[in-house]
Amino acid sequence: MVFWTELTDKINGITLNFPDEREKEYREFYFERSYKTTRFAYLILSIIYAFFGYLDSVVAGQYFGLFIIIRSIVVILLLFVFFYSFSKNFRHNWQTLIFITYFAGAVGIILMLVLLPVVVVYSSGLILVFLAGSVLIKLRFLAFSIASWLVIFLYIVAGIVWKVDYAIVLSNTFFFSGAILIGMIAAYRTEVFNRDNFNLYLQIAKKNVLIEHANRNLEDKVEQRTKLLNHSNKELREEVRRRAIVEKELIAAKERAEESDKLKSAFLANMSHEIRTPMNGILGFANLLHEAENEEEFNEFVDAIIKSGEHLLNLINDIIDLSKIEAGILKIEKSNFELNRLTREIYDIFSVETNVVTKNIDFSYRDGLPDNNCMIYTDRVRLKQIMINLVNNACKYTDRGSIEFYYKIKGSSLHFVVKDTGIGIPEESQKVIFDRFMQASNGRTTGRDSTGLGLSITNTYLNLMGGNISVKSKLDVGSEFSFTLPDIFENHKPVTNDASKLGK
Ligand code: ADP
Repeated sequence: MVFWTELTDKINGITLNFPDEREKEYREFYFERSYKTTRFAYLILSIIYAFFGYLDSVVAGQYFGLFIIIRSIVVILLLFVFFYSFSKNFRHNWQTLIFITYFAGAVGIILMLVLLPVVVVYSSGLILVFLAGSVLIKLRFLAFSIASWLVIFLYIVAGIVWKVDYAIVLSNTFFFSGAILIGMIAAYRTEVFNRDNFNLYLQIAKKNVLIEHANRNLEDKVEQRTKLLNHSNKELREEVRRRAIVEKELIAAKERAEESDKLKSAFLANMSHEIRTPMNGILGFANLLHEAENEEEFNEFVDAIIKSGEHLLNLINDIIDLSKIEAGILKIEKSNFELNRLTREIYDIFSVETNVVTKNIDFSYRDGLPDNNCMIYTDRVRLKQIMINLVNNACKYTDRGSIEFYYKIKGSSLHFVVKDTGIGIPEESQKVIFDRFMQASNGRTTGRDSTGLGLSITNTYLNLMGGNISVKSKLDVGSEFSFTLPDIFENHKPVTNDASKLGK
């Protein structure tokens, strides 16, 4: 059987086979497309083959029994193939089985034909077999051709053996050959058509692979583009958000600039007013000097000029400080120094202050650290200025009682307090006295060289140094100004000695 398959393969190869690996695929393809038709054909053929037994009963006469046996064998074979077509193995040997059964069916008819040579039923039957072989059971072209010519050969041999009339054998052979030739052409055309079909199928499959590949590429590209777009979208949104923030900041800056512009105008207006007052004093008293009636009056006028001059100088100093703050050129320069030395200096300055001395005010101070361990690290000049401003205010606004200042160390912060029993500050003014040119209302500061700049400068210095200031005050009872300055020790090492020292 193997030899046979190889032989037909070889011969078929010369005619129709694909020269490459497509042949194997084609056979699979052909089987898949054909096995159901083959199965159906075998069912129909076994019925027809059996059904024609009825004709035997009419024409076979003495051979009827034998013919029925022959038909039974063939029908059993046909039915075997029908049932076997449901098995998985059918694909491996279906062509061989078809070949054998086709051949067996034909041989069965030949036997009948040689036994009853003049009955046309059997020669027609054999032509039907050729017809079924070429178009119905899906026998491949070459197998059909070989099987069919073998059948004719057997018929001739059988005709000779059974001594059938030469003319009948000859005429039947003519008809049979004609039928086979027509069948061969049909089988050949069918196979060519099938193979073309298969080629088309392969090409479509190839194109499909290419299309799928292109599709996948396209999808990849779309995905990449989508990612890129998403990314750019995100960046754009981020940019829009950034711009919105910048716009907000710009608007705020613009508002600040406008506000600052207004403040500056107000400041200038105030300043010219503030400067004009002492200037008027200086010029007025200078003019009066000519008219002084006696030396005492002359000295009084000179004192007034000096006082106005000092006031003007203070004012100008404050304005210069403010300008420096405004211009941003004020820098905090930290250094190590002894805090107790600074408090002593403050005390020394104000203990001889005219107001303190003439009004006999009890002026004292207290240190929070011992002299031998009072080194701190901050901007000495600014700290001194802050302390001077606060103590100066206390001296300025106190007419009786006492003034004291002291400091405490809390962790690494300096807590400084100035207490007086002065005129006090109305509650509504307490919120604004840290603003420029703001003086406590109701004219209580008149005659006290007020400019309304000292606390504003103090507050700004403290903010620059990370500190803050607060006030507690009661009208006619007194005021308590205190500020806190953080991180006053180099490397943040706090001094934890609360020894205190009194100064008077
Ligand atoms: P100036 O003292 O030159 O007016 P400041 O800014 O130092 O300017 O003070 C603002 C205002 O706060 C003062 O005009 C005064 O009304 C009030 N003030 C400040 N310190 C005291 C104090 N110790 N007692 C009473 N009032 C004070």
